[in-house]
Parts: sequence; structure tokens; C-alpha cells
Amino acid sequence: MRPVYLDNNATTRVDPEAVAAMLPYLTEHFGNPSSLHAFGAPSRQAVKTAREHAAALVGAALADEILFTSGGTESDNTAIRAALAANPDRNEVVVSAVEHPAVLALVRQLEAEGRIKAHVVPVLTCGCLDRELFRAALSSRVALVTVMWANNETGVIFPVEALAEEAKAVGAVFHTDAVQAAGRAPIDLKRSAIDLLSISSHKLHGPKGVGALYVRRGLKFAPMIYGGRQERARRGGTENVPAIVGFGKAAEIAVPRLHGDAARMRALRDRLESDFIARIRDIAVMGARAERLPNTSAIACAGVEAEAVATMLAREGIAVSTGAACSAGSHAPSHVLKAMNAPIATELGAVRFSLSRETDDDDIDRALTATREIVGRLRQSGPPASNSDAPRRREAAYA
Ligand code: PLP
Repeated sequence: MRPVYLDNNATTRVDPEAVAAMLPYLTEHFGNPSSLHAFGAPSRQAVKTAREHAAALVGAALADEILFTSGGTESDNTAIRAALAANPDRNEVVVSAVEHPAVLALVRQLEAEGRIKAHVVPVLTCGCLDRELFRAALSSRVALVTVMWANNETGVIFPVEALAEEAKAVGAVFHTDAVQAAGRAPIDLKRSAIDLLSISSHKLHGPKGVGALYVRRGLKFAPMIYGGRQERARRGGTENVPAIVGFGKAAEIAVPRLHGDAARMRALRDRLESDFIARIRDIAVMGARAERLPNTSAIACAGVEAEAVATMLAREGIAVSTGAACSAGSHAPSHVLKAMNAPIATELGAVRFSLSRETDDDDIDRALTATREIVGRLRQSGPPASNSDAPRRREAAYA
């Protein structure tokens, strides 16, 4: 049976058209884009075209507002450091409690070094930001506000355009991690107060190891990587031309399909959830009452460890996740579920199903049947006691 891939928030399959676009830049067009001779020209032109496509993906006014990076993590790190450098008289950072580690780990590190004071704004059980506490954290001491566009574990969307306006009112720079949103939700930076926005190619059917940071024109900026004068002296290092070309192609493909793909994914995701709700008792959909990405569903089942469900689904060829890929292997509930204080999930975790434009009805049917059966078996085998009995019981349930 063909495998079912429902872990698209971890990464997506590279679109064959993106692969085809990349290949010539690994073979005949190997020139360095900075070279003035004939070998440099095709690479230079290809990077320029890719920049235009990445700009269109996020509705940037100018292609030059796009800075290519090695991915979402570098974009987030660059944004945070750039904002602090641009605002040297201020040393406070406002951040949501459910950011990806690409943001949270750096904020914690800077705080440990005594360079900043962080205000970590909690979320409510619905997954939404606590707007009152957000407002309370804003002041003329805040250099940077960073809140993600959409959460990778639950798909919950944050009102970043409104939050950016509030940050602006106190003179802070506003950054958003749009790694999960780009290509899945419409983004139009021309009409927003967002200063910095991170995207990553491999979440939208492009290659890994490449991404971009949108830097609003006129924003004071300090590079994170010093070196040559590539990327208008904002990021040193010879450009990863094939990856940038693949990313550009993925962005070009995503833009015209965005609304159609989102509607198809939403219909499949909603069918998955309504079937679960109808047929599995005592389950909770994380962030169900909040606005969410159309492709993400995180589900917690009372009395059943999410990790056990994901492991058993994997044995049946169905790939899902129990949270951020980076915390896979750890049985502790993720910081996102903990921050939401979500019923069931805070203790037992949640199974994340994340769809892509390639997901079809058959994938959903197989995930539904297998999950129902696995949850039933696990429930029959008894509660997931936090004692040494648990692995044995889980093994018995596989049989
Ligand atoms: N931000 C979010 C919300 C993510 O989901 C991820 C990847 O999982 C990243 C940042 C990191 O992106 P990359 O893998 O391109 O470094």
C-alpha cells in the first residue's frame, strides 16, 4: 500500500517543476552570480527572478525587500538580531509563548546573556494570544515584537496585522514568523505595518536549506552574517543558486493556486475532524474555535498517548507527528500544548495531521480508519499509566 504523508508542517515534497528548474544551476549554469564574466550572468538573472517570485508570494512592494537565507531558522535569528541592532536604545522584546524554537531559543539566549528583557505573552486555551497581556507588555522600552503568523503545531493564526499596528504605536519593530503561513494563507505586506517576515522554502514544496527574510524598505538593518557584499551587503556568502531557483519556482507555483489549494485542503481537513468528532468519543481539536490554517489539525484523545497513536500509524504507513519535528522523540507535551493548557493534550499530547495540496480523499479515508481503530485498541488496553507498565501495554495493543 502506498504510504500516506500527513506531516506537511514538518516538510513538503519538492514540486517536480521546482526540481527541474534547479537542475541547470547544478550543471551548465554553475557560475557565481557575483562574477562579471559570462558564466555569472545566468545565475545572477535566476536569483533576480526568484527574488521577484518570493516577493510576490508575500505581497512585498519591492523585490529588494527580500533577503535570501538558509531557511526559516536563519530568517528568524536574523530578524531578531537586526531589530535589536536597529533599536539600540531599547532592550525589551515581546514574544508569544508559542513561537517556534527558532525564535524562542534565541530570545532566551539573549536574555540569559543579559542583553534583553523578554516579555513572554501567554495564549488562552483556544490558542489565541492574550491580547490584554500583550498590550500590557508594550511600552517605549520595547525594541522588538515577534509573533508568528500561524502556529506550526495547531495551525492557529494570529492577528499579526493588528498586532503590528499596536507595536508600531510604541515605536517597536514588528517581526512575524510566517514559515507555516506562506503558501497556505494570503499574505499582502503592501498593506501592513509588518517590518520583518520569515519564510522557508521547504514548507511550500521547495527545497530545504533556503528561505527568505522580508525586510521593509527603509528599516535600519544590521547583518547577522558578515562577509562579502552579497544580498546588498546584508548577508555574506555565495548564494545557494540552485536552492534559490527551486524556492522561486515553488513560490511562483504557489501564488496562483493559493486560494484553490486552501479550499481543497480545508474541505479535507474539516472532513477528517468531523469524522473524528462523530466517531471517537472524548476527543479535542486543538484551537478549534480559533482561526486556523486550512491544512492543520491537532487532535487529543482522552486516555490515549498521542505518541503511541503516531507510532502505530507509522507502522501502517501513515506519517503524522505529535508536535514540532524538533521535539520528536521527547514524550513531554510540547511547549505549545502546555501554553494552551488544553484539556487532554497538556498531559497526553496531540496527534498533528498536516495536509498539503497533494493530499487526497484516499489519504484522509486511510488516516480516519487507521486512527479510529488504533485509538479503540489503545483504549481497550487500558489507561496510559505513567508507570513502567505502559510500554508493555502499548506493545500488546500492536498485536
Ligand atoms: N518557524 C516555524 C513556525 C517552523 O514551523 C519552522 C520549521 O519547522 C521553522 C521556523 C524553521 O524553519 P527551517 O526548517 O527552514 O529552519
